[in-house]
Amino acid sequence: MSTDAEVLVIGSGPAGISAAATAAMHGRDVLLLDDNPAPGGQIWRESTIGEPEEPDDKQRKALLALRISGARIFSGWSVFDAPRERSLRAIQQTDSDIGADLHTIDISYENLVLATGARERFLPFPGWTLPGVFGAGGLQALARGGFSVAGKRIVVAGTGPLLLPVAAHLRQMGGRVVTVAEQASRRQLARFSASLSRQPTKLLEGLQYRAASGGSRYRLGCWPVAALGTENVEGVRLTDGERTWDEPCNLLACGFHLVPNTELASLLGCTLRDGIIEVDDVQQTSIPNVFAAGEPTGIAGLDSALLTGTMAGLAAAGKLEDARALLSRRKKFERFAARLNAAFALRPALLALAQPDTIVCRCEDIRHGALTAYKSWNDAKLQTRCGMGPCQGRVCGPATEALFGWRTSSVRPPLIPVPLSAMSATPAR
Ligand SMILES: Cc1cc2nc3c(=O)[nH]c(=O)nc-3n(C[C@H](O)[C@H](O)[C@H](O)COP(=O)(O)OP(=O)(O)OC[C@H]3O[C@@H](n4cnc5c(N)ncnc54)[C@H](O)[C@@H]3O)c2cc1C
Repeated sequence: MSTDAEVLVIGSGPAGISAAATAAMHGRDVLLLDDNPAPGGQIWRESTIGEPEEPDDKQRKALLALRISGARIFSGWSVFDAPRERSLRAIQQTDSDIGADLHTIDISYENLVLATGARERFLPFPGWTLPGVFGAGGLQALARGGFSVAGKRIVVAGTGPLLLPVAAHLRQMGGRVVTVAEQASRRQLARFSASLSRQPTKLLEGLQYRAASGGSRYRLGCWPVAALGTENVEGVRLTDGERTWDEPCNLLACGFHLVPNTELASLLGCTLRDGIIEVDDVQQTSIPNVFAAGEPTGIAGLDSALLTGTMAGLAAAGKLEDARALLSRRKKFERFAARLNAAFALRPALLALAQPDTIVCRCEDIRHGALTAYKSWNDAKLQTRCGMGPCQGRVCGPATEALFGWRTSSVRPPLIPVPLSAMSATPAR
């Protein structure tokens, strides 16, 4: 199959939704494509169980704008290759029968907006691969998809602003969230909160989430040193640097802030700086007809994603001056992103948790002790297969960057595992 679009937007989270709606409302033929079953991205992911969650004002407004904009929406499609200039290839596959129910499509575009979001960072520590240990946002997504957390004793641990909304949400789904362990120190968070004095809504949001996760202890300067259990997680060993204690739990939701999804940008050859896609004043990347918005351009939350999405949509529709007019607002979010990164910077103790037998690459079962002899990501990959499994380094790449300072190098297609039949449609390079 093939199709084309004047503006192709990859990722239908808040950034992609606002980019697509904006470009379409300016008369462009827009196609919005995402691998999830419906637009919404991480934060507005639909719950498939119970009563549908009531959308908040921002969500309602964004989805309404998308609906009336006339943008075409392709849900359930994953981009895995860029076979030709100004063309991407995507796959749609069902879980039931991968071989039989498989479609690929080539989409040609004039302008492209990358709004591919972010994922959680995982850090290896003893026991982190035990069943029952999840990413924090991962457990939240699973719970929305029907995985029951009702009555389960849950510890949420790690770092970043995501921990509180996750705890609040798990509690709303019936989980017993006993502890939220945030590794950032009280002093770091006090400084961060003080810096938000001119953004009271952010402070209020944090307090609301804190209230909604009520009943749980919120411990600052506290982090997991080991997940305990044999067949499944039965508890977590926590420390505050002075004291260490065991907290029984049935589920451990653990994430260490977010990592931008930049693989597609890398595949296309866009310049990255400090792990994010470099963009100019109108969200254009180093490639003239490719724009980027939302978390791949910096982790700064929902409002930043909406704003940069609007800017990218305007720029992709040729409204460069209108996009540039929003730059001063973007700068505020850039400062916020820098403060977030500083507040939730990983403490060195977290990088010393993995033991020689702790698995680092869980796809290929590569342990920490097998990696210490190598000097670079490429070297370790070639010698041990670290990062060469189905997740293609999305989990162990950021972990080894934190642990050893390795930067992942080139990105090659396919971006995600696809059946050979899908690859055979790709011209040889
Ligand atoms: C796991 C997780 C849970 C989160 N939960 C919350 C929360 O509860 N509350 C909160 O305030 N913030 C939450 N956030 C942060 C929130 O996602 C951001 O603040 C912001 O909304 C990001 O918007 P975005 O449009 O940049 O990215 P996203 O919302 O992440 O949207 C990006 C979309 O692009 C899709 N995509 C990526 N690559 C491809 C590809 N190759 N092909 C097709 N589609 C692709 C992704 O599947 C995703 O749907 C969460 C983040 C993560 C990672």
